[in-house]
Amino acid sequence: MNKLIVISGPSGVGKGTIVNELLKKGDYALSISCTTRPPRRGEKEGISYFFISREKFEAMIEEDGFLEYDNHFDNYYGTPKDFVQKQLQTKNVILEIEVNGALNAKRSYPEAILIMILPPNFEELKARLTGRGTESPEKIEKRLGRISYELSLKDKYDFAVVNDDLQRAVAEIENLIKSKQ
Ligand code: ADP
Ligand code: 5GP
Repeated sequence: MNKLIVISGPSGVGKGTIVNELLKKGDYALSISCTTRPPRRGEKEGISYFFISREKFEAMIEEDGFLEYDNHFDNYYGTPKDFVQKQLQTKNVILEIEVNGALNAKRSYPEAILIMILPPNFEELKARLTGRGTESPEKIEKRLGRISYELSLKDKYDFAVVNDDLQRAVAEIENLIKSKQ
């Protein structure tokens, strides 16, 4: 049976980078979330996210269309239920979502494997977040301010993996997924 894998961790820790590496292996599909935030430079509709209006998002909440959703950084983010169920028929499915959504996903889908990605240290996290160059200094501060809350939920996750060396971290994650029945 294919597995639902939920990956979370502080903004800038390397979740997207790790997920891209896992997708190259061929056994994994990425759930594409809906969001009401505007696209960043280079992001594509239906690949990065489904970018939808607040009205459409709220209508989908009413229709019970989300496996989980959350209001985060002043925008809604949610995992479309139908999309994930369809993907699970052929592959393991990865959700790359923040902590509240991850814990909600575990409630609606208890077999989900929750993995938290940790930075080697705070300075390195800050350097990665700033180096990515996609957020304003104000947004970076907001995201950094959330880290202690995110890390306080680490024990509710099945596993925590330090993203020090990328390939080492990816290999550890693959082994953890395979080991979990
Ligand atoms: P997230 O998706 O968690 O917000 P990203 O995947 O966008 O984070 O990574 C943030 C930045 O850190 C990117 O510039 C990425 O290239 C870099 N990065 C990711 N993993 C590592 C790593 N293991 N070592 C050094 N830099 C990394
Ligand atoms: P970003 O705006 O940087 O793409 O994402 C902001 C946060 O929202 C990240 O922590 C990301 O993991 C989270 N996120 C993305 N999609 C979803 C989702 O479908 N549900 C929830 N709860 N969080 C999501």
